[in-house]
Amino acid sequence: MATSPRSPFERLQSRYSEVDLVCPKCGYDDDGGSWQAVTTGKTVEYRHVCPGCGAIRRRTVSLDHE
Ligand SMILES: [Zn+2]
Repeated sequence: MATSPRSPFERLQSRYSEVDLVCPKCGYDDDGGSWQAVTTGKTVEYRHVCPGCGAIRRRTVSLDHE
C-alpha cells in the first residue's frame, strides 16, 4: 500500500509537469510551462499547448493502474 499522503492525481500531475515539455512538432522547449490535468474520476487527461506553434498534445492516464 502507498504510504504517501499525496493523492495519485497529485503524483501524476507532478510527474507530468516536470517532463516532456518539448514540442515534438517544432521543438519548442516550454520551460516553466506545464501539462494541464483534468480528472474524471477514473482517468486523468493531460493537455499541453505549445506556445511556439499551438500544437495541442493530449494524454490520458487511467488511475486504475496506479
Ligand atoms: Zn510546437
